[in-house]
Amino acid sequence: MAIKPLIDASTIAQRVTELAHEITNDYLGKELVIVPVLKGSYVFAADLVRYIELDLSVDFLGVRSYGDAQDSSGVVQITTDLSHSIEDKHVILIEDIVDTGLTVSYLFKNLSTRRPASLKLASLLHKPSRTREAVKIDYLGFAVEDVFVVGYGLDHAQKFRNLPYLAVVTGELPPGASQ
Ligand code: 5GP
Repeated sequence: MAIKPLIDASTIAQRVTELAHEITNDYLGKELVIVPVLKGSYVFAADLVRYIELDLSVDFLGVRSYGDAQDSSGVVQITTDLSHSIEDKHVILIEDIVDTGLTVSYLFKNLSTRRPASLKLASLLHKPSRTREAVKIDYLGFAVEDVFVVGYGLDHAQKFRNLPYLAVVTGELPPGASQ
């Protein structure tokens, strides 16, 4: 197994700042709730919120998806739920990566039942070639090929989240990567 750099730290920082400015402009005068999906999106969310110039709160969702590291089954369990109601709030769900789309699609259905004023999605990465359930990504960092990405919050068997850049794992991939 080897790690090959994919997107460097300054390119990520530039794109994350652009997304934060877009969000700031889109929600002027509104109060936002930022909902990072743990664990993979915590680094992206931490950088993103620091450049959003609005009143906002942050509340976390912990999820576990069944299936192996490479194949989401679409069955998602919420392991840590939001600590506050999102009724009548403007919510942005923050994901690390949209792969098949099954996880986000489940979460959108779940969060919609809680009657937010609006619900949008920001994802650092998207693998369009793997789509099984199409989801609209309102704020996207980068589209990537069908490769297994680690770093900047994303793990392989809980490792590599601390890499300051995005990298691709090459070689054999034992099961074990997770949210
Ligand atoms: P989906 O339900 O869209 O297929 O899967 C979404 C979840 O699968 C992501 O939030 C992430 O935890 C995991 N995942 C999918 N592709 C990758 C990848 O390339 N690298 C890592 N580290 N996790 C991935």
